[in-house]
Amino acid sequence: MMPLEIDETHDSSRVSWVESAQAHPDFPIQNLPFGVFSVGGIRRGGVAIGDSVLDLAALAESGLLEGAAQTAVLAASGRTLNCLLALGAAPRRELRLRLSSLLSDVTKRGSVERMLHHANACQLHLPARIGDYTDFYVGIHHATNVGKLFRPDAPLLPNYKHVPIGYHGRASSVRASGEPVTRPFGQLKSQDSDTPIFAPTRRLDYELELGVWVGPGNQLGRPIPIERAAEHIAGLSLLNDWSARDLQSWEYQPLGPFLAKNFMTTVSPWIVTAEALAPFRIAQPSRPAGDPAPLPYLWDEHDQSHGAFALTLEVAITTAKMRAAGLPPHRLSRGSARHMYWTVAQLIAHHTSNGCNLEPGDLLGTGTLSAPTPDGYGSLLEISQGGAKPVQLPAETRAFLHDGDEIEFTGRFEAEGFAGIGFGRCAGEIWGAPGD
Ligand code: CA
Repeated sequence: MMPLEIDETHDSSRVSWVESAQAHPDFPIQNLPFGVFSVGGIRRGGVAIGDSVLDLAALAESGLLEGAAQTAVLAASGRTLNCLLALGAAPRRELRLRLSSLLSDVTKRGSVERMLHHANACQLHLPARIGDYTDFYVGIHHATNVGKLFRPDAPLLPNYKHVPIGYHGRASSVRASGEPVTRPFGQLKSQDSDTPIFAPTRRLDYELELGVWVGPGNQLGRPIPIERAAEHIAGLSLLNDWSARDLQSWEYQPLGPFLAKNFMTTVSPWIVTAEALAPFRIAQPSRPAGDPAPLPYLWDEHDQSHGAFALTLEVAITTAKMRAAGLPPHRLSRGSARHMYWTVAQLIAHHTSNGCNLEPGDLLGTGTLSAPTPDGYGSLLEISQGGAKPVQLPAETRAFLHDGDEIEFTGRFEAEGFAGIGFGRCAGEIWGAPGD
């Protein structure tokens, strides 16, 4: 299966002449993620390499590429990467092979170096025009922890282990890392009152998730079978599904989340491709004894043996007080991303199983990814036990987020014998509600 092939682009001994790429925590030459950047106005596709961004529009005009790689780089030259995502894995892989060669071959340095921009000079944008955004709920420890707050005796609802739970989110408010998060107003109802008030949320939270970028997708009425689902996964980002817990608890029945979730979603702006992730695919953890087997349309042996990721996720907070005191970010959690009850291929197969069409550039969220223990919980709701036990920070505590707090996610893929790679920044600072 092509997206899982290991080739020379993954060789840990391959070195780029871009010196900052050597031992870069996120963007060594083995990663080569795709994104959209601008330097003074015009947006175009780029590739992160160390502390630099390679301009794909310039590369498309250079005459250095041909064939499928040239087709792919042309598709990546515009204001969004939707055309590149639509091409699927084969041309994307050809482009990756050529990029890896050009950025490691010192004889090409003279012709390629002029297409590099320093990342500090670049503004990063969403990599695609997102037609639709769907958020799932595959983090079983998160689902259990949150369920316990509402139903201590039966935290998981009976459907959880049979059907990948999801809902349709809002695409228009997805933003690239760095854009501030304005505290939303909404209806809040305390338990000792019969009527709600309209006020800024008092229980603003983050949700640690992975974002899945859809590749070619499917025609309406034509489901993607599980064994073909990997062909439609272009790559991953980090995703923060900012959540207003007090709005959520009042509004969510009977139709699910709405204004508690759709005021903003932050993604890391680079698409770490399925090709780059090949060395970090691991077996999906087997289900605990007694759990139901997935229905056949969700079961594929190859997916089960390669469907999870060797990925460690971290969340850090910097408050206004910490910033003023020059303190470093405080880690709120660190944990493995292997605690997904469903694989990303199962999400694609399930989402399209009724004939619903996914399109290039659509975005899926996995749902909050919590590790089994409190040091790996992926939201403040879980860490503070619904607000009852605030977290101790260097000089203050937090049950939920205050104005001036910045939340940053980091993710790191690691595998024996391979260069580790990451996503780049996924951060947002809370700004006060307008007029508040
Ligand atoms: Ca979520």
